[in-house]
Amino acid sequence: MSAGVLHVVAVPIGNLDDISARALAVLASVDVVAAEDTRCSGRLFQHYGLQRPLLALHDHNEAERVPALIARLQAGESVALISDAGTPLISDPGYRLIAAAHDAKIVVSPVPGACAAIAALSAAGIASDRFFFEGFLPAKSAARQARLRDLAQVSASLIFYEAPHRIVETLVDMVVVFGEARVATMAREITKTFETIKRDALGELSAWVQADSNQQRGEIVLVVAGAPERAVGDQKLLSAEAVLQVLVKELPLRQATAMTADIFDLKRNALYDMAMQIKAELEIKRGDA
Ligand code: SAM
Repeated sequence: MSAGVLHVVAVPIGNLDDISARALAVLASVDVVAAEDTRCSGRLFQHYGLQRPLLALHDHNEAERVPALIARLQAGESVALISDAGTPLISDPGYRLIAAAHDAKIVVSPVPGACAAIAALSAAGIASDRFFFEGFLPAKSAARQARLRDLAQVSASLIFYEAPHRIVETLVDMVVVFGEARVATMAREITKTFETIKRDALGELSAWVQADSNQQRGEIVLVVAGAPERAVGDQKLLSAEAVLQVLVKELPLRQATAMTADIFDLKRNALYDMAMQIKAELEIKRGDA
């Protein structure tokens, strides 16, 4: 008997009309639908008169459910994976199932459709040739700022998902880390009644959201312009700084500077001040510890 197919099916992110004819045909014909929340998907099924059995597959039971689903696929059944909204696996469960299906040589076939990140990017008015999808940031401000600092030099556009009760603090942290002039777009309630797409400098955007509690409701995507491309020389200095950070911990200052200068073909003088600065910061940190 040949194995069944695992279909990865995108569903709407708000407007129920945003589902493809093929998605509906697949959902009407598979043996079982693995759904993140069966009650939520039940409403979609009712709307479209779909009657296939639903089985819950979420972050808390995915590991234990996967073997049984793989066994069903191997026995020839077809399975569809869906999320509450949009495309499965995009900040949603399903990775373990898809990876296990590949390991078991089962055919995995996507049925593409809505995805909030891509919908937001398409309407953001921010460079879309290269983008970095971050998804949800950490909930606590210190961890969130640390992650934002990691992303501050990325030159591709950045896409974030954010919960409404954290949007004010997140925008404040973005102003702190990226600066108030960086351009960003907030895409809220995409495809729904209160859909709002607003593009502005981060400082203005943050003030606008703080001043209007309506902007602190619903589902939100933030698209932030990437860091300006650095000149080649700046890039080289940045990489040299990263290497110096490591070498200064292990070697005398002059040796660390000389090795880094050789690696990056830079003048030693240009690096010596940087090395001294790094060493001073390390000593301060050690003093604090
Ligand atoms: N898998 C989904 C997708 O393809 O976009 C994302 C699921 S993730 C758990 C939910 C987050 O997606 C929300 O917190 C919000 O950031 C974003 N999102 C989902 N629907 C949205 C909508 N209609 N408008 C704006 N953001 C949305």
